[in-house]
Amino acid sequence: MLRRVLIANRGEIALRVLRACRELGIETVAVYSQADADALHVQLAGQAVCIGPARAADSYLNQDALLTVAKATGCDGVHPGYGFLSENADFADACAAAGLTFIGPSGDAIRKAGSKSAARDLMRAAGVPVTPGSDGPVASVEEALTAAESVGYPVLLKASAGGGGRGIRRCDRPEDLSAAFAEAKAEAQACFGNDEIYIEKFIEDPKHIEIQILADNYGDVIYLGERDCSMQRRNQKVLEEAPSPASFMNEELRAKMGKAACTAAKVCGYRNAGTIEFLVDKNGEFYFMEMNTRIQVEHPITEAVTGVDLVKQQLLIASGQRLSIKQEDIKLTGHAIECRINAENPLLDFRPSPGRIKSLFIPGGPGIRVDTAVYQGYEIPPYYDSMIGKLIVHGKNREEAIAKMTWALSEFIVDGVATNVDFQLKLIRRPEFLEGNYDNGFLNRTDILADERSKE
Ligand code: ADP
Ligand code: ADP
Ligand code: MG
Repeated sequence: MLRRVLIANRGEIALRVLRACRELGIETVAVYSQADADALHVQLAGQAVCIGPARAADSYLNQDALLTVAKATGCDGVHPGYGFLSENADFADACAAAGLTFIGPSGDAIRKAGSKSAARDLMRAAGVPVTPGSDGPVASVEEALTAAESVGYPVLLKASAGGGGRGIRRCDRPEDLSAAFAEAKAEAQACFGNDEIYIEKFIEDPKHIEIQILADNYGDVIYLGERDCSMQRRNQKVLEEAPSPASFMNEELRAKMGKAACTAAKVCGYRNAGTIEFLVDKNGEFYFMEMNTRIQVEHPITEAVTGVDLVKQQLLIASGQRLSIKQEDIKLTGHAIECRINAENPLLDFRPSPGRIKSLFIPGGPGIRVDTAVYQGYEIPPYYDSMIGKLIVHGKNREEAIAKMTWALSEFIVDGVATNVDFQLKLIRRPEFLEGNYDNGFLNRTDILADERSKE
């Protein structure tokens, strides 16, 4: 077993990892930036070391500092959480070279899965259905035009290194392609330091459905059902549920997608928890979109319906243990929903709203879980993601889960900063949500707050 783990992250995921380590008797070392001296992960970890100034590039992304701290404190493992260095193949390699276990896949597997354009080629070759698109990256507007012509408009220009919904541009007509190409390239360069772009056919009104997998070092891979992440604003997830409430979802499709996801993991030589994201069209046809080679924000809904602690599994796999769970052990029970709680102002175009939390009330009760690292009096720094927590409910069916979510959101109080709590409450009362067949474009087409106002 791993003995002492460096947690190379902050916020709620740092706490999540810390707690899983504790349960397994693993010691923890937290790192923090100068802006995070008051953060909860600093207080709860076995030890905590400041690694640099507020800017992520100078602290949480500072590989040398992280490795130095890991060695100086006698760690044998590094957990990257999500975001930051979690999908950085060079960091995974650097950990291995320093004799540290990176709690994730090998650098090689991250490279295979991490370039979206390269991953598409790999999946196609393995017989996993992929969205129609360019064969590899497009280097010029001319190549983009040829590729777009052959798959048919509308198309999406996407960054090979993309993540977090960035570096994506839709293009409906050839005359707009040159501008969209320049924009996508510039955003990709700015966000990821890599301006490689490829083309995908734009799938009309699809759902985003992803499969959670676990893979060990010995070639065993299992899938743990799906998450429906179609509730998105500008390609970023807002609310997730498991299982998918889509009318096309059934045991047969779940098994087909699950097997495709396991194939995807195998062809990359993957180990660790991982997620294979698919787009599913109105007819239930699914297409591989990308693979996330890390624990995901929305992993708790899968934990709720399967009873499997995914972060503990990551630690056991990284410790070299065989998966003790078999595919036939995975049974989905009830229904789970997660609402992301962000410090942002929905009335000001969801602008981030950092500041001091004056008062805080966190809901509870059977089937209610809140993963957060904020507390009353805590000052949310302006330097990082605006997500301050996640509210997860688990009911015996979807109706019960929605009822629990309604009451939990109603009880939730965060005073001092603007949040999206009220927005989430209005969202889950919408008939389109209740009906369950909402697609990825729903939140972009619908002004939840304006519609509410006009009804009042
Ligand atoms: P998930 O698929 O787990 O929902 P997201 O794509 O929403 O993951 O990203 C998880 C977290 O990591 C988010 O908080 C997001 O801000 C951050 N993140 C993901 N990709 C990037 C990126 N390329 N640059 C900066 N932050 C990112
Ligand atoms: P990221 O790495 O930023 O998460 P993804 O490739 O997962 O990027 O795409 C993010 C979101 O963009 C998807 O969840 C989906 O809503 C939308 N999207 C991506 N590709 C397509 C496509 N070909 N057609 C329609 N929507 C898409
Ligand atoms: Mg994605």
